[in-house]
Amino acid sequence: MKKKIAFISGIGGQDGAYLAHLLLNKGYRVIGGERRSSKNTYWRLKFLKILKKIEIIDFELNELTNIIRLFNNYNISEFYNLAAQSFVHSSFKNPITTSDTNGMGVLRILETIRTLSPKTKFFQASTSELYGNSSSKSQDENTSFRPRSPYAVSKLFAHFITINYREAYGLFACCAITFNHESPLRSEEFVTKKIAKSLVEIKNKKINHIDLGNLYVRRDWGYAKEYTELFWKILQQKKPMEYVISTGESHTIKEFVEEAAKYCGFKLKWEGKGIKERGIDIYTNKVIVKINKKFFRPTEVNTLKGNNKLIKKELSWKPKCNFKKLVKIMMEYEINEFKRN
Ligand code: NAP
Repeated sequence: MKKKIAFISGIGGQDGAYLAHLLLNKGYRVIGGERRSSKNTYWRLKFLKILKKIEIIDFELNELTNIIRLFNNYNISEFYNLAAQSFVHSSFKNPITTSDTNGMGVLRILETIRTLSPKTKFFQASTSELYGNSSSKSQDENTSFRPRSPYAVSKLFAHFITINYREAYGLFACCAITFNHESPLRSEEFVTKKIAKSLVEIKNKKINHIDLGNLYVRRDWGYAKEYTELFWKILQQKKPMEYVISTGESHTIKEFVEEAAKYCGFKLKWEGKGIKERGIDIYTNKVIVKINKKFFRPTEVNTLKGNNKLIKKELSWKPKCNFKKLVKIMMEYEINEFKRN
């Protein structure tokens, strides 16, 4: 029997790598799209030992011809759109390219699917950033969206255009509203990876301290490997629809630092307020954490906590990796990685 073809845009990113690993194990032929870069974008695929098993093609979301060529060359059963300018902070600096990639990029794909391959199932990676400063204690599929960054606004367009193409043209198109998900494969600009890596470097005297932004924002952090399995499951449902993916637990960045610090033998006490706040190791009296204005967003999202009732019920899922376990996975990886290099 011919293998089903799955296409993953953003194959070089965190979620792309985990999803490719899963789909290969399920017997798919995996085509990965990645835009040209002079950097080593395939370290995650090498880490998961799958680089040679994937066919990688040039894929730039801002270039319609790339998308058309893809559908002319392959008979794609499932299209997972994981490519995005995914860093909220950068979206304030590059709002126009962010909107073009994250918003219009999705419309380019949907329009191509509609005209060339209407049977292709489409998955869009939506985000909890859509909720902004929500007045609800926890956010579900019916909570209203109040985006607070160019990133979130661009993803809002992508979210609704996906739903619109499903309703207007009958495409099998779904969005998952995923809350933050992390792993050792996270990029270094994201705060969890930055904390994990920097603490190990401080412990090993490679750097003196870590600069962070707002320590009091709360996030619902899950494990990326677990979430990508749900991306696949969502496309296997009878009916295309939206799901929230979250753990239902919410923690501050300060709590993440404190939990992670334990793995390096630090215990933190906090002194000062606002940008003068400092995290100090009680055993050595050394300043480990400083606050730097540079890392504050112009408009912040204070608290995100997902309500995952629907996906638990309909996909018989429950999160296996809680906050403490996630920190453990990330810290153990960084400690081993430091020893390896
Ligand atoms: P990621 O590691 O940043 O990966 C994003 C990928 O998209 C990278 O390979 C990137 O390539 C590629 N990309 C960026 N701009 C592109 C363009 N114009 N054309 C083609 N490819 C482009 O992000 P992730 O954590 O895997 O997230 C996957 C998706 O889920 C993203 O859409 C993200 O917004 C969404 N999401 C993630 C989270 C989370 O917590 N991880 C939460 C909610 C939603 P370069 O390396 O060249 O930049």
